[in-house]
Amino acid sequence: MAIQRDSIVVIKSTDFNDADKIVRVFGRSRGKFSLIAKGIKKIKSKNRGNLQTLSHSQIAYFPGKNLGILRDSKGLNNGWRKDSDIESISRVLRFIDKLLIEDQPEIEIFDKLVDVVKEGLSIENTNKFRIWSLNLLGFIPDKGACLVCSQGESLDYFDLENLAPVCSNCISEIKQTSRPIFLKTDLDYSSPQVSSYLDNYVERIIEQ
Ligand SMILES: [Zn+2]
Repeated sequence: MAIQRDSIVVIKSTDFNDADKIVRVFGRSRGKFSLIAKGIKKIKSKNRGNLQTLSHSQIAYFPGKNLGILRDSKGLNNGWRKDSDIESISRVLRFIDKLLIEDQPEIEIFDKLVDVVKEGLSIENTNKFRIWSLNLLGFIPDKGACLVCSQGESLDYFDLENLAPVCSNCISEIKQTSRPIFLKTDLDYSSPQVSSYLDNYVERIIEQ
């Protein structure tokens, strides 16, 4: 089968045998898929540094029947920055691994991921990336309409549990429930509360 090329970000790798690994990647052209990287555990492997978790690399591979076979790689960006938040790294990896569909390209999400990894995976960057991607994937209610009355004016509030806007007229209705509601301008993407509501939101989608 003809050799293929793609720009990829590594999601995870697992030991296959003494020298090889199975590497799960998110390809810009192909979407999510897995490859076998032969000899990658050897110190002298040229591909080793290019296939660390969250590395961005250009690769050539043989598609194979089930698993592709890596031929060579060229590193573009070596994994996450040292100042990244460890929990944010796992959140991003879980998001990509569980919410994207195998062999389905998501070019905008790919490009955004490359940028956000380069910028550093802070809690704020990670939450913004997750909300932005959920929206693009169609997992968030209409951003231009109030969650309660569906009209599109004075959408000054944000319902964190449903990741949806609420208008000033409906705010009193929501306040009677125990749902977390914020003035949009007060929403702090780096807060543990936003992270935890987003985690729950993402887990609910994964379970479905
Ligand atoms: Zn409303």
